[in-house]
Amino acid sequence: MEPPSSKNFKRSIELSKLLNQANHSYYVLDSPFMEDSVYDRLYRELIDLEKQYPSLLRADSPTQRLGGKPAKRFINIKHKVPLLSLDNAFNFEELLNWETRVKKLLNQNSDQKKAINLASLVCELKIDGSALALSYSKGLLVRAATRGDGINGEDITSNVKTITSIPLCLQLDNPPEWLEVRGEAFLPNQTFKKINLIREEQGNDLFANPRNACAGTLRQLDPQIVASRKLDFFAYSMHLLDSSNPDQSKNFSLSNQWDALDWLQSAGFKINPNTRNLNSLKEVKDFLTKWEQKRIDLPYATDGVVIKINDFNLQRILGATQKAPRWAIALKFPAEEAPTKLIKLTYQVGRTGTVTPVAEFEPIELAGTQVKRATLHNADRLDYLDLHAEDTIVVRKAGEIIPEVITVVKALRPKKSERLFLPTHCPQCNEKLIRGTKKAATKCTNKLCPAILQGALRHWVSKSAMDIDGMGAKLIEQLVKKRIVQSIKNIYELNEEILEKLERMGAMSARKLILSIEESKSQPWHRQLYALGILHIGQGNAKTIAKGFPSAMKLKSAALNSPELITDIYGVGSEIAESLKEWFNNEENQLFLNELKELGISLETIETEPLSKNNKKGFLETQVGNNFVLTGTLSSITRDEARDMIETAGGKVNSSVSSNTTFLIVGDKAGSKLNKAKDLGIKILDEEEFKNLLNHKNEKT
Ligand code: NAD
Repeated sequence: MEPPSSKNFKRSIELSKLLNQANHSYYVLDSPFMEDSVYDRLYRELIDLEKQYPSLLRADSPTQRLGGKPAKRFINIKHKVPLLSLDNAFNFEELLNWETRVKKLLNQNSDQKKAINLASLVCELKIDGSALALSYSKGLLVRAATRGDGINGEDITSNVKTITSIPLCLQLDNPPEWLEVRGEAFLPNQTFKKINLIREEQGNDLFANPRNACAGTLRQLDPQIVASRKLDFFAYSMHLLDSSNPDQSKNFSLSNQWDALDWLQSAGFKINPNTRNLNSLKEVKDFLTKWEQKRIDLPYATDGVVIKINDFNLQRILGATQKAPRWAIALKFPAEEAPTKLIKLTYQVGRTGTVTPVAEFEPIELAGTQVKRATLHNADRLDYLDLHAEDTIVVRKAGEIIPEVITVVKALRPKKSERLFLPTHCPQCNEKLIRGTKKAATKCTNKLCPAILQGALRHWVSKSAMDIDGMGAKLIEQLVKKRIVQSIKNIYELNEEILEKLERMGAMSARKLILSIEESKSQPWHRQLYALGILHIGQGNAKTIAKGFPSAMKLKSAALNSPELITDIYGVGSEIAESLKEWFNNEENQLFLNELKELGISLETIETEPLSKNNKKGFLETQVGNNFVLTGTLSSITRDEARDMIETAGGKVNSSVSSNTTFLIVGDKAGSKLNKAKDLGIKILDEEEFKNLLNHKNEKT
């Protein structure tokens, strides 16, 4: 076997050190300094390194230990049966690998040579709390302990006795001599929020998540505080400690996990009601997908699904490793944050000349999709992150949000790695870049910069602007590189003959494109206004402004002479008015507008009076409330259509949820906006309810 490179050697030492520190903060101080998903990935990286190069395995490696050492505040007790952890799978493929491993092991170890039936699997939600071991002697709760390091835990009996869902006495006529029940104590989300509010008021550090708050609560020295926090408990397994006693075995002839859960329920424990007995990994996948969405409705935190082989006999054959049983696995919900290694920094030059640094990194799975690039926004952000070559970075992607680098794990930075900065010259045209003093944007100001031109062209032809079908980014690149198109005007001077000569362009597509270019001339004024690419003029306010000022001439006159007419429009602020003034003041832009007119682009609509504060109110604003936010994919309409429907009814569409939001419209794969809306108590509508709301308007008007 090849020896590890010095890079791998150093990396394993650094990972060990960092993860041991993380364990201490997490288990002993109940105050983690990194997200669980980040910990999980770094831990997996270390395991993989140690597997590949066994010489890297050190005695103090966190992979050799489970949990944290029991705290000194409580009496330390040795568990009669060790409390293990669970192995993780981060995606469905890893779950399939687990199944293959298990089948192989069973085939090797089973004396019965018949095919092993793995069909019955028990799927339980993975409750994000603290594992407890509850000992019952002749039916009475005599001891409750934390998991600790799996071998030794802390005796927290008086605290656990305050949890009302834990029976102090089993509801059984003939209880066993000694029984140990395992399960998860947890803090309901509402209580977690309350505790943190109080801690904030008292100036104490906040708990990072309900799990740490639960562990912290269980370690309180005063049981009254524990009682006030109203912890709850779900039981998920049991051990009969004297199973050698034939009488006992007779009474408790349980042969599988599913029956054991039933039994625990009849003995007086709470079992998670969402547990299912499933028959294939396909069903498990559906179960996971369902709970990935629905878990936000639960009043407690979950971080995945635990899959257990139902049959105790098979469980016995499979046994356990030092850290986890082989017959169970935790399939974690897709992470929104994960660490990865930076490969390089690239720079994007946008249509306004702004240079955006982009991190390119080893691909990672985030929120269910593969991500390999993330924005770093601007030079200020780069400075703040203090990014160096080969850094380990943490990337975040929640729902539809664009991935971003949120932090750098400095403890894993290779020695002598170089600090990264924005370039001094444009990577596309080599013009010296200008960094604004107030604004963080660094810009290329070369009007002829090919990147700026391509950005402006892409914007002009885009679906929401002039919608020139068939003119994609690749074709634009070709046209600019070949110097066929040097301005927007040149698009309208193209002909079939020129286009046919280009790569990947046949006679048919050339004809279609020319048709599409011609058709684009009759796009409505609000789209033309958006297409101009004026700073701060997005799709939404282009529509509102175009309604108020039905021609470019009228808008120009207001922008230059009476900006108050512009800011009078609901939702249009002085920043937009300033931007319009600056744009119309520029002589080149005025010439550009003349060119467009000559080409037959109207730059106007037949419209009525400017929209004033008195006539702007539609049905939504006057009767229901008008601030909408959309999240997820709608099935029967596009987002643009939904936006149009809302705006026609007098509503407004915002990009983020705030206390001003009236409705959140939720489609498939809703993002983090949903959680925020729930936290703020905002009304949530699904697609059907949304349509009904607007139909209701139609009935009334
Ligand atoms: P784990 O939380 O991944 O899984 C094992 C635990 O799951 C069990 O001990 C049990 O308490 C719990 N569980 C919940 N529902 C269950 C069910 N239905 N059946 C069985 N068990 C169930 O593993 P762990 O060893 O407790 O903790 C390791 C995890 O803790 C890591 O994966 C990481 O996410 C987190 N951690 C984070 C940091 C950090 O710095 N953020 C540090 C250390 C550990």
